[in-house]
This record gives sequence, C-alpha cells and structure tokens, in this order.
Amino acid sequence: MQADTTAEILDGKAVANQVREELRVRVEDCRKQGMRAPGLAVVLIGDNPASHIYVKNKIQACKKVGIESFLRQFPADVKEEEVFACIDELNRSEQVDGILVQLPLPAHLPTDRILDAVSPDKDADGLHPLNLGILTAGKPGLRPCTPQGVMVLLERYAVELKGKNAVVIGRSNLVGKPVALMLLEKHATVTVCHSRSKDLAEIAKTADVLVVAAGRQCMVKADWVKPGAVVIDVGIHKREITAGPKAGESEVVGDVDFPEVVKKAAKITPVPGGVGPMTIAMLLSNTLMSYEARMAGK
Ligand code: NAD
Repeated sequence: MQADTTAEILDGKAVANQVREELRVRVEDCRKQGMRAPGLAVVLIGDNPASHIYVKNKIQACKKVGIESFLRQFPADVKEEEVFACIDELNRSEQVDGILVQLPLPAHLPTDRILDAVSPDKDADGLHPLNLGILTAGKPGLRPCTPQGVMVLLERYAVELKGKNAVVIGRSNLVGKPVALMLLEKHATVTVCHSRSKDLAEIAKTADVLVVAAGRQCMVKADWVKPGAVVIDVGIHKREITAGPKAGESEVVGDVDFPEVVKKAAKITPVPGGVGPMTIAMLLSNTLMSYEARMAGK
C-alpha cells in the first residue's frame, strides 16, 4: 500500500501520555506548595474479571501522575445500603476529590440510584445528571471521560470542527449523546444516528468527522466514509483470530473496519490505542479539576 493513500493515525496512546505528563506536573506543583495529594476513590463490586483489570489500570495510572487512590471493594452479594453508606463516606471525605463506581454492577443493585448518589462535584466519570445538564447548558464542569477524550484528541490533532458536518453513530448517555453536544459546542453541524436510523451509510457519508460508538464490530465500511473524512472509532470488541498465523489468538477491534477505512479517511483512530487510552487520561483530568477547585475553596 502506498503511504500517501493511508490515513494519518490519531495516536491516542501518545496524546494520553502527553496529557498525563501535563497532569503529573500540575500535581507536582501543588505538592511543592504544600498541598495534599489529589485522591480518587474507586468502588469495585463483584468479581467481573474485566472490571478488576480496568480498576487495576486506573489505580496504576493514578499513581503515575501522583493521584492517591482509595479502593473500596465489595463482594457481588453486597447489600445496597452498604454501597450507599460507602458513597456517603467518600462524598464527605476530605481526602477524596473523585469517586468512580466501576460498572457494570451486579444485577440486584440499582445502578442509576448508586451513580446519582455520588456528589456531583466528585463525579470523576462526569455521568451524574447534574453534570450532564451542565454540559447541555454549555457550561464548564466535569464531563464524561470518553467523549471528552475524543474532543481532546481532535483538538491536539488540530481537526477543524467549525462549520463541519459531524455524524455520531450511537446515542448512549455514556458516549453518543455527550459527544454530540461537545461537537455542537465546537460549532459543528451534528447529526446523531442510532439503531433505528434509516440509510445509515448515506448519512455517514455526509460526515467530515464521523464518530462511531454503536458497539457493533467492524460495522462501518469504506463505502460509508467520505474520502478525506476524520474517523473516530469508540468501539471496543475482543475477538478470536480464526485464520492465518495468529489463528486462535485474540485481538481487539472497533466499530470501524479499520483495514478498509484507513485507505479512505484522512485521519483515523486505531483500536486499540485510539480513544481507549484517552478515557483514562480524562478520568485523571477530572479528578485533578475537582481537586484544584476544592483547593481553591470553590
Ligand atoms: P450502548 O450499547 O449503550 O449504545 C450503543 C448505541 O449505538 C445505541 O444508542 C444504539 O442505538 C446505537 N446502535 C446500536 N446498533 C446500531 C446500528 N446497527 N446502527 C446504528 N446505531 C446502532 O454502547 P456505548 O456504551 O455507547 O458504547 C459503544 C461502544 O463503545 C461499545 O463498543 C463500547 O465497548 C465502546 N466504549 C469504549 C470506550 C472507550 O474507552 N474506548 C468507552 C465506552 C464505550
């Protein structure tokens, strides 16, 4: 393949490292002034192996930038009162600036009520209804990590959004809806598609910037993409390789058929190494934002 027919890779890992280094310096400055370390509390319930890996990675990431982490772990059959009591304690703790409840929760627990119990000013995930409302109003605040990660990646690669057509595939509260609001805030003309949208490929083809968060493996093909578009793939899917020398091993792919689309787009995020690393960087960034506000007495 000719190098000039291949899209520029939007390297989320490199940008996330840059962001994390900037956060580390900010923490170091605060510590030099005699302030306490910022703190992130993580509530982990049950024994979902993926959740345990995610939490371990988040705690490691905290350590590297100087954020102290507090792990609160419960068995899968924990009573909801115990979880609420834990969140209440963390909400009142002087050492804790961010609280993250690792999802999914066991089925008997009321996920929405538990997330809503997190104090909005410690909402490191930016998913509290109050923070989503603040985002809708276009005011600064704690924002959902994955969409914010997408926006920082676009910004660091100087992708122009003003007046551009942005198409978002997916309308979840976690990704699709908030990223659409953020693109709108940057003056893009935004179309949001979902599982019941008609002529998805035709709509996708109008996009200068295409953000895909549908949770459907390799759904977006080259003929869905306008030549020269910027393609952001939020999807994450682990699958087994069925043919070739790596048969039997597993690989991670996104919602975009990368090998096809990389030949058509101007810029594209890889999976892994695109949006994923940005999400953790934004979790740290939210924790620090909340810490700095607390230190400034706001
Ligand atoms: P979700 O299942 O909550 O929402 C999916 C959305 O896509 C829905 O709004 C649905 O209407 C739409 N959709 C589903 N099938 C569709 C189709 N065939 N055509 C058009 N629209 C369709 O998922 P989510 O939580 O928003 O996550 C989406 C993907 O992003 C998943 O693969 C998830 O694993 C991944 N994800 C990645 C990160 C990260 O850090 N990179 C973070 C969150 C989610």
